[in-house]
Amino acid sequence: MSGFYSSGNWLQIRKRQLARQPLCESCSDIEPATEVDHIVPITQGGAKRDPANLQSLCRSCHSEKTNAERAGRTWIPRKHQGCDIDGAPRQPWTTRGVGVQELRSRSNGAAPEPKPELIFPKLLD
Ligand SMILES: [Zn+2]
Repeated sequence: MSGFYSSGNWLQIRKRQLARQPLCESCSDIEPATEVDHIVPITQGGAKRDPANLQSLCRSCHSEKTNAERAGRTWIPRKHQGCDIDGAPRQPWTTRGVGVQELRSRSNGAAPEPKPELIFPKLLD
């Protein structure tokens, strides 16, 4: 397997994929992608070279996905995590660059006051 990832053939495929999709496909296209992921892992029978089985990811999303796969969990791309039916984030801290005020105005003031433990999960640990 390591031979494949250092092969000239893969490096070409990888370069082409990052040129085609230079932004992370998991982070709602706001983070530059640095890694090319096999959507269906090769170890699970995924095609090695088929562009349809490739996606561009940032390092952080790629390691999230790899960890989930190793643990046998289903990985959900970040852009599909934590949104309600209207697309409003359930977890305000995941929406980079968007303030709670803006989120509230988008939903016509209907957004519930976020709980402090949802905004500062790390700080309250
Ligand atoms: Zn990402």
